[in-house]
Amino acid sequence: MIRHVLITNDFPPKVGGIQAYLGEIYQRMDPESFMVITTAVPGCEDFDRGFGAPIVRLGKRLLPTPATIKTLRHMIASFSPQLVIYDPIFPIGAVGPALGLPYALIAHGAEVRVPAYVPVLRRQLQRTIRGSLGVVAAGGYPADEVRRLVADTKVMVVPPGIAVDRYAPVAEHDRTRLRRSWMSHPDDQLILFVSRLVPRKGADTLLRAAAQLDPRLKTEIHVVGDGRDWSRLRRLALGVSHPVVFHGSLPEAAKIELYQAADLFVFPARDRWLGIEREGFGIVILEAQACGTPAIIGSSGGTREALSPTTGHLLRAGGVDELAAVLGGVLARPAQLTLHRSETSAYVRTHFDYDRLGKAYEESLHNLVNG
Ligand code: GDP
Repeated sequence: MIRHVLITNDFPPKVGGIQAYLGEIYQRMDPESFMVITTAVPGCEDFDRGFGAPIVRLGKRLLPTPATIKTLRHMIASFSPQLVIYDPIFPIGAVGPALGLPYALIAHGAEVRVPAYVPVLRRQLQRTIRGSLGVVAAGGYPADEVRRLVADTKVMVVPPGIAVDRYAPVAEHDRTRLRRSWMSHPDDQLILFVSRLVPRKGADTLLRAAAQLDPRLKTEIHVVGDGRDWSRLRRLALGVSHPVVFHGSLPEAAKIELYQAADLFVFPARDRWLGIEREGFGIVILEAQACGTPAIIGSSGGTREALSPTTGHLLRAGGVDELAAVLGGVLARPAQLTLHRSETSAYVRTHFDYDRLGKAYEESLHNLVNG
């Protein structure tokens, strides 16, 4: 047990990828072993009361200013931690060297990659990383990004995971019921896309590829999520001869039902801006697979780390034609998809169960402190 303070801008009940990662890991840790310093968000009082460990909320955003450093120093002193952990590395990690306590960092991807293109910020990142005991990287992709900045940093990889009790396959008769309730033709193939609707996630590639599919293939495409691409995607869907259903933003339970009902999850994520913008990990790939749905995905940042190597398909170039060809082949053999369902979810349960990752995180902290 490493007595430590986690300082982060991204902690539940705020929603998002980093928040889910920290929330799942920290709710599994001994509440006597840590305290959290984070920001205030609506609903946080109820969350904090039920959490167990102390949570201090300071304003709306933690920035590495002299005033913040002074406040943090004051708050941390009475807790006497062995370690302070900053997430993300930029900008709040810059407090690390100034505070003068042993510290570690958590890296997710974009917050390291993007500022590294600006020389002055790159130097600041390097200073922050060099001064630390090391970095916990939420996947191989952020680990590589950190090593590109400071080659000899100690990096421990603890990827994002999934709550496998909630994201799980259902029995066949329940699946049939879900398909009846979500699909207009439950015997057709359900292709699912879930994500914020922004260009990097590739819903446009899916719809363009779907427009090329043989109209005789019986399939319907369901898109879950909202975002700035909404209108553009709806226009693209007009060119698809198969039914396309836009659900908008759905509650968690409904989203999970669709993952369980789907035959195929398609997430053609791509790099943008010459690789400056990349997908950090692609948690939706894990969510779909955990529910038994095999995935076809694009390669961007860490997406390939989430994909089942035996039942998943990684697009090579990720273009529309390639996806159309792969989809055509896969949809022509629906029995294969059904066969792969249990292997797909077993892969996620084995490698990405948060019970296991929580332990790996604790071990990482031991390793960083004790060498
Ligand atoms: P981001 O880049 O971190 O925002 O990645 P995503 O948008 O792909 O997904 C982050 C999380 O948000 C995943 O757990 C998604 O399932 C979830 N998510 C995205 N859109 C929706 C939605 O419409 N409804 C629900 N319930 N969850 C969503």
